[in-house]
Amino acid sequence: MVWDIGLFRHKVSKPQNQLFQQSRLQLAAWYAGVMGVILTLLGFGMYRAIAHAHEVTIDREIKSVADALKNALKVTLADEQQLKQLPPQLLPDLCLGDQRCLDPIQQTSSPYLQGYYIRIISPSGELLATAGARPQGIPVAIPTKTLQTVWDNNNQHYHQVAVELFPTVSPTIGPTAQASKSWAYLVVGRSFQDFDEYLASVRWRILLGLLLALALVAPASWWLATLAMRPIYRSYSQIQQFTADAAHELRTPLAAIRATVESVLRLPHLSEADAQDTLGVIHRQNQRLSNLVSNLLLLSKLDIQSYPTKQAPCNLVDLIHDIAEEMAAFALQKKIVLDIDVQTESVVTVLGDEENLYRLLLNLVNNALTYTPEGGRVTLTIQQQQQQALILVIDTGVGIASEDQAKIFDRFYRVDTARSRQTGNSGLGLAISTAIAQAHKGTITVASQPGQGSTFKVSLPISL
Ligand code: ADP
Repeated sequence: MVWDIGLFRHKVSKPQNQLFQQSRLQLAAWYAGVMGVILTLLGFGMYRAIAHAHEVTIDREIKSVADALKNALKVTLADEQQLKQLPPQLLPDLCLGDQRCLDPIQQTSSPYLQGYYIRIISPSGELLATAGARPQGIPVAIPTKTLQTVWDNNNQHYHQVAVELFPTVSPTIGPTAQASKSWAYLVVGRSFQDFDEYLASVRWRILLGLLLALALVAPASWWLATLAMRPIYRSYSQIQQFTADAAHELRTPLAAIRATVESVLRLPHLSEADAQDTLGVIHRQNQRLSNLVSNLLLLSKLDIQSYPTKQAPCNLVDLIHDIAEEMAAFALQKKIVLDIDVQTESVVTVLGDEENLYRLLLNLVNNALTYTPEGGRVTLTIQQQQQQALILVIDTGVGIASEDQAKIFDRFYRVDTARSRQTGNSGLGLAISTAIAQAHKGTITVASQPGQGSTFKVSLPISL
């Protein structure tokens, strides 16, 4: 019983069908898995890049706010005593001196300090003043100069930087030892709440994008797996078909030999004439079997890509003369005119295996004579076109219907099976010729009109 595998047009047995379906599923799962991993890594990389770029921008912003404030304070603020005289627009919500400055306030009144907290801390770690937001739980301590990450009581994280505040240098007195010692640290911190919210929305978008991509990857993987399996499936079913055809072809002469031998064994006496007949049948069938086996062997050798085709220069003009000579008797017997038309002045030489090239052309001429009725004509033409040698085998025979023209190059394909069998042909001739042409980087094509004749064109690259 044969089963169709859906998208595949060829047919194979049920267990094989299941095996192919399973392989297709596995392949699709692998595709989807690999794509999923790649997309996840890509999404993660993208997320990290976005987060890093934003973090760097915010840190830069904090540093520039700290520097700008330091420069502004430098002009108006020489020491701790002057803190009280600071103009309110410079540091809004300024609170001087004690623990109450850390008590929460609703919101900073200054829009440009949204999310920022500012602390002025003495070198001994004492809080001198605060401004801006008042996050709860961030410790007051002597800050490090590098950028720090700190957390408040709500587990919200902040980045803060500290810059030193120095006493104002008197232009008349010049720098003194006192002036080179900082009197306080200016700590500027910023909440990362908006940044975290933004990153959470980026995470969601990437996750949704990933899910959507995976939803598309799944059918795409299935489709790709189908595409990948199709040639394997096709060649598998071709091998199956080939094995079945070969077995069928081998069975016919074997059955004929067995029937002949069994009928002779049933005879009480075997006359010399009967013996001659029997041996004749066995000999013919044996011949047919030998031809078939050697054809199959040749085909399987040609199928192996690495099969070494001999690379000797072959003169094609000499070759077609030899073939015409060999087929002359057959043409005479069939009352067909067999002639040669050499349409080139130069010697046409190709690199290859002369024995195989001879076989290729012999098959074509043999077919032309076989499928041309009495009184017809078969012409062997050779010409040279650029770097190609063209050999045409033209006959005035029965011709080939257009629907059969592509199929006749298939193994064991015969247009008229009964008639071909009578001639002892197995349907492998053109398949062998095609394989030989391909092994020589050449091609065979056919043009034919039923009832008018056929032209087989062999094109082979010329050796320089
Ligand atoms: P076979 O051994 O049967 O000749 P081939 O592979 O050589 O097998 O040819 C396949 C089929 O192509 C033949 O059975 C025949 O029907 C058809 N064919 C090949 N050559 C010709 C031709 N010159 N004219 C008409 N039919 C041809």
